[in-house]
Amino acid sequence: MTRLIFMGPPGAGKGTQAKMLSEDMGVPHISTGDILRAAVAEGTSLGQKAEVYMNAGELVPDELMLGLIRERLDQPDAQQGWILDGFPRTVPQAEFLNQLLDDIKQPFDFAVNLDVTDEVIIARLLKRGRQDDDESVIRHRLDVYRQQTEPLIDFYRSRQRLVSINGNQTMESVQANLKQVVVD
Ligand code: AMP
Repeated sequence: MTRLIFMGPPGAGKGTQAKMLSEDMGVPHISTGDILRAAVAEGTSLGQKAEVYMNAGELVPDELMLGLIRERLDQPDAQQGWILDGFPRTVPQAEFLNQLLDDIKQPFDFAVNLDVTDEVIIARLLKRGRQDDDESVIRHRLDVYRQQTEPLIDFYRSRQRLVSINGNQTMESVQANLKQVVVD
């Protein structure tokens, strides 16, 4: 059973890689960014609250995110495995997730960190052209990543749960590296 947590700075290619791998492994790709964007598009109450933070390149508050992930992992399709993309993004989210997975007896395999240099990140994000991909917002998202999400690398490393992959390569090479790690 595949249960993986994907991490990496914005623009690392984690969405693309997580999606491809989830199709290969036959498990759902759970992207909190996708869930939030769908909520914004539908104009739900969650979407209305989240939109302001997303457009500013800020993290959506944990109080909204914890319930969201708990409900998503409770869905029938998530009982046979998953790839998490974009959650956790803060140490409190990671602690919550550890506790939740313990409670529902679904241990994860490991956290995959896609390691990418700043130049590659900025170049990729500017090409992507999403609504929250304006240059000043990108810089802010990177700062937020450094402050709030990067500490998760040590969080998982210290628990012997981290696998790092060089994300500066072509999409195909990253994909091949990932598959090696998952199959081993
Ligand atoms: P992503 O598609 O993963 O880059 O997420 C897009 C935006 O959604 C982020 O910049 C945050 O504003 C928000 N977001 C997604 N996942 C989370 C999370 N786990 N915690 C807080 N905010 C999140």
